[in-house]
Amino acid sequence: MKKKSINKKVKYIFVTGGVLSSLGKGIASASIGTLLESCGLKITILKLDPYINVDPGTMNPFQHGEVYVTHDGAETDLDLGHYERFTHARMGKLNNVTAGRIYHDVIAKERRGEYLGATVQVIPHITDEIKSHIWAVSKGVDVVICEVGGTVGDIESLPFLEAIRQFRFDTNPRNLLYAHLTLIPYIKTADELKTKPTQHSVQKLREIGIQPDILICRTERKVSLELKKKIALFCNVDVESVITAMDAKSIYQVPLNLYEEGLSRIILEKLGLPAKEPDLKQWELIVQNIEKPQDEVKIAIVGKYTALKESYKSIGEALVHGGISNHAKVTMNWIPAETLETDEGKDVLNGCDGILVPGGFGDRGFEGKVQAAKFARINKVPYFGICLGMHSAVVEFARSEGQIKGAHSAEFDPESSDPIIDLMPDQNQNGNKGGTMRLGEYPCQLRKNSFAFQAYGIREIKERHRHRYEFNNKYRFQLEEAGMRFSGISPNGNLVEIIELADHPWFLAGQFHPEFNSSPREPHPLFKAFIAHALEYKNSHQS
Ligand code: GLN
Repeated sequence: MKKKSINKKVKYIFVTGGVLSSLGKGIASASIGTLLESCGLKITILKLDPYINVDPGTMNPFQHGEVYVTHDGAETDLDLGHYERFTHARMGKLNNVTAGRIYHDVIAKERRGEYLGATVQVIPHITDEIKSHIWAVSKGVDVVICEVGGTVGDIESLPFLEAIRQFRFDTNPRNLLYAHLTLIPYIKTADELKTKPTQHSVQKLREIGIQPDILICRTERKVSLELKKKIALFCNVDVESVITAMDAKSIYQVPLNLYEEGLSRIILEKLGLPAKEPDLKQWELIVQNIEKPQDEVKIAIVGKYTALKESYKSIGEALVHGGISNHAKVTMNWIPAETLETDEGKDVLNGCDGILVPGGFGDRGFEGKVQAAKFARINKVPYFGICLGMHSAVVEFARSEGQIKGAHSAEFDPESSDPIIDLMPDQNQNGNKGGTMRLGEYPCQLRKNSFAFQAYGIREIKERHRHRYEFNNKYRFQLEEAGMRFSGISPNGNLVEIIELADHPWFLAGQFHPEFNSSPREPHPLFKAFIAHALEYKNSHQS
């Protein structure tokens, strides 16, 4: 554990969760980040995940939601997306650690003999390893916000809770605080908010030696002062540290609500930081924009994992951001791609103002995505393809316009006579599912006369990738002749990063994931342009 070099002035906020999952610990941690940044502090956020997977890269999006890709190519928990959308902190490999990673590294050290024959145990070896990750993100910041995944009371999160308990003694106890997120359920039949689950969850925390300093209480009704006093008494916190987090219409409202409850003031006070009023003007404007849109567009998202919105978290948010920059509300219609492969799917895209086909893996629904691209091309509806959404657009165009009837992606038909989407010749295929993808940020040069250049306004961009398959250069010329524009290319000229259809109001698809680079403060240029063209489409098709 390298802690000697660490500045002892760094402050730590540990965020735990109680009662049940899905209370929004990620949003709460991100909102704390927003508030502290608005007070002029430099922050970072670390997510500790108690599951045994070494990273979420191979996890099913249906179970775990989206895999969020950082600029340096780490496949991480979707909460890191919230952190980047809510703050200026740049997330990377160091900002997400799972129990699997911790055990993996401890066992590797044991095999290398680094423990010098000691019996390797949860305490201190696993807990030391966890703490070393907290120290590792502490450089150059004023405050580290550390979110512990899972719910207090779970077996698997115990080593993490033990580590953050010990951490108090590794730094000055005045440098850290524990914030616990709980639920105050409203019981309809009794017409009452109930505090017992919160009491029990705090008891559980105290059993392991952690006394929370702040309670953030999720609730659907306002928590009265009287009730706050009761919670304070039973949970051993001061009454003003009982913070109400009411259900909000938009997640971007949460930092403002927590500010109203006094959260930033209390945190600064408890950590001995100089009192400062946060500057939340920009944030207020964002919320106003969401609450009072001047227009509305309907976007169809044709994907594989549409049953669980969490699978496309960043896409949904980036569309909201595109809406914010156009003063429009974006209504999202999530369509399972397979629907478009059947008769009942014939009309599902009628009435939408824009079509987005997101990334994905596996062949289920691929032909439906091809149909979606075809519909957009023929009907001149704005189309935005992301990764697999680019593959489906290219396959469709090659089959319909490029006279390449057998065009396919080698991902779904390895024997295809025309693998228009293929593995690059030098691609490493070692039989493992993990570690064989093009991951993280890559540069891309834009062609001047293109939708892409119009949107970005610069010649070289960087975007995040997560895929194995690429456009097959053998077909570049043939498709260009047929009307496809290759508007974004890697600097060495080898990789097609963006394709467009010249003869279309806005048909653009990219090999990368722009949704990971969008925030409400800085909506991504492509999402901004896509929504602007969807609005144009809508207005020209009205009446
Ligand atoms: N499955 C495709 C590939 O591996 C696309 C991945 C994606 O959409 N992110 O290339």
